[in-house]
Formats: sequence, C-alpha cells, structure tokens
Amino acid sequence: MSTWNILEKKDKMTQSELLAGLIDEAEAIVVGIGAGMSAATGFVYTGPRFKDNFPDFIEKYNFFDMLQAFVFMDWESPEEMWAFKSRFVKLNYFDQPEGLAYTQLREVLESRNYHVITTNADTAFYRSNYDMDKVYRCQGEYGLIQCYDFCHQQAYPLSPEWNQEMVDKQENMEIPTEIMPRCPRCGQFMEINKRDAVRDMVEDYDFHRQRKLYESFLADNQEKKVLYLESGVGTTTPQFIRDPFQDMTGENENAVYVTMNRKPYRIKEDARERTVRITEDIAETFADVHQLLMK
Ligand SMILES: [Zn+2]
Repeated sequence: MSTWNILEKKDKMTQSELLAGLIDEAEAIVVGIGAGMSAATGFVYTGPRFKDNFPDFIEKYNFFDMLQAFVFMDWESPEEMWAFKSRFVKLNYFDQPEGLAYTQLREVLESRNYHVITTNADTAFYRSNYDMDKVYRCQGEYGLIQCYDFCHQQAYPLSPEWNQEMVDKQENMEIPTEIMPRCPRCGQFMEINKRDAVRDMVEDYDFHRQRKLYESFLADNQEKKVLYLESGVGTTTPQFIRDPFQDMTGENENAVYVTMNRKPYRIKEDARERTVRITEDIAETFADVHQLLMK
C-alpha cells in the first residue's frame, strides 16, 4: 500500500515527528476540528470557567457543564434563555481570547493546500486569523441568530453591543422583554444559529456557500495523497467529521487518516490500515509540530 515515505519510518519517530512528516508530505490536508481542540487550548466548558460565570443557573438547574446547559430546552421563558445565552456568547464568542494551538496550526497550514471543517461554534478560527473561506462551520456559530420558528432561512449577526446589553440588564436570570432579539419577518423571539439534535438549524446562503467550498476542495483533491487530520472530535456528532473522514480514507488508497484523541475508538475496517492515532496532548503536539515545520 503505502505511497507515504514517512510511514516507513514511523516506528522510530515520536507522534509529533510523524504528524509533522505527514503534513509535510501530504498533497492536500483536510482538517476536522471538534470541541476537544478548543478545550486543549484552554476553552473548557467545565470547572471555574463554568462555575464562576453561571452560579445561579447551576444552582437552579444542576447543570454539570456549559454544553449541557447550552442545549437545555426547558427554560421558563425566552427571557431566561437569553439571560443564560447572552452570558454564554460573551464568554465563548465575543470575549474569547486567541488559542495558541489554533494559531500554530494555522501557521503550519498556511503555505499548504488545506481546508477545515469544524463542529465548533466559537471564535477560535477568527481570533487566530484563519482565512474563513477555508473554514466550514457546519454546526453554526454562537455569534449568529435565527428565528425560533425557522420562518425563513436567514441567520443574522448578533451585535456585541446588543449581547452586552442583555448581559448588563438581566435581573433574576431574565433579560427585559423589550430588548429580546426578534425576528424581522414574523416577530417571534430569536435564538442562536447552532445546530440542535432535535430542532436542527437555519441554513442560509452563506452556510451553503461554505459547504460548497468545502465539498469542492474534497472533490478536487480526492485522488491525491490526502491527509485527513481530525483533532478533538468527540462522539456526539460523528456524521460531520469522523464518519466521512474514515469513509473517504477507505475510498482513496493514497489517503491517511490521523485521529488526535486520547480515547481509542473503533475505526472502520477500510480505513484501519491507513489510520494513525495520536494519543498525546493536542496542544503539546501542535506546539511540537509547529516547531518542527516552521524552523
Ligand atoms: Zn420568524
């Protein structure tokens, strides 16, 4: 099988050296980024970052992390939902600082033929100055809002000033009704444009444009030496990154699939032989790869 020179030497290399070698030898790199990447670079959804910002909601609903709270459906009112979500969006979108692992990865990728797909909805790619036409945000973004009734397929940017007003003026876990984001077409309240397992999400022109750019990249490169590099992808939504990456690896004998994940999981048979597992810390691995390739 292997058309990859680096794989012949893999037993003598560290995981970071092997990944750097694969990136260097690939003719195309498809990067899939999940929540574990943001967590590895400091944006965790548990611990003090969660407890210090939402003590009232934790006390009332016994949430165990921010993700569980974000997908919660049984709010007493939309005013209460926005009291939580405005604080969430401030923390995980408008005020999110730069993540070093994202910047190091961008510098490594920049001179190469690559495209990114992410299930994350935070601002990590913006903060690290990625070309956003190369980042397909397939699950939506925390900074976009949509009609709660999906009355039309358009997402709108939530202004940071409006979000801050909802944070500042909330009392007893409710925002004032008069500053509720409202649908410009039907007047219903609005919610975050983030895909939900039950309700799905609004997909507008820009979303489809991103999807087409990603699909064109896949089609243009599908016969080449493709590196499918998956980082921090969990088990909740395998249909966006994990399953297609393994399928595409199985279909292209020149492709290699790299999974950066501490937890081992079952790899589809067709891809198994060309799978490389990176089990070391994501942030440390990207720091090492950056050093190896950028010197
Ligand atoms: Zn509407």
